[in-house]
Amino acid sequence: MPKITTLHDVYVEQLRDLYSAENQLIKALPKMAQAASSPELAQGFEDHLEQTKEHAARLEKIFEGLGEKPTGKKCKAMEGLVKEGAETIKENATPAAKDALLIAAAQRVEHYEIAGYGTVKNYAKLLGEDEATEFLDQTLQEEVETDEKLTEAAESINVDAEAGVKESTSATHR
Ligand code: FE
Ligand code: FE
Repeated sequence: MPKITTLHDVYVEQLRDLYSAENQLIKALPKMAQAASSPELAQGFEDHLEQTKEHAARLEKIFEGLGEKPTGKKCKAMEGLVKEGAETIKENATPAAKDALLIAAAQRVEHYEIAGYGTVKNYAKLLGEDEATEFLDQTLQEEVETDEKLTEAAESINVDAEAGVKESTSATHR
């Protein structure tokens, strides 16, 4: 591994981390969609899968411009988040409770990405990488929108999950 000495090096290192994160998500999101009971939530995961492919493609374009390869790093934080998502998928839960858990896992992922893209966007800006700044900002906005959509979806799903808890509690007391 070459020594990281400049902000440019830091920028490239962080971009590689994000590229790994996006590629891990491309594999995970179809499983999240399949596990969702709410058709809206499943569609939301499908839609974000398409966006996520675009996020990876944007990073590839940035690397092309830098004359560097995007591969060579594994994002261990995303690996952990995806593992938690996989645990959620296997959880024995009512449909609404499972959906609430999937949203909880997905929002952690989006917040992680928002943090990462916010940071690299600022590097790109400082480094005068105008096109990359634009790309990174587009992706950042899509991550924020996805997080907001998940919050919206949770509004009704959490209420359903709460009703499910009450139903099963009253059932055991009968
Ligand atoms: Fe993304
Ligand atoms: Fe995302």
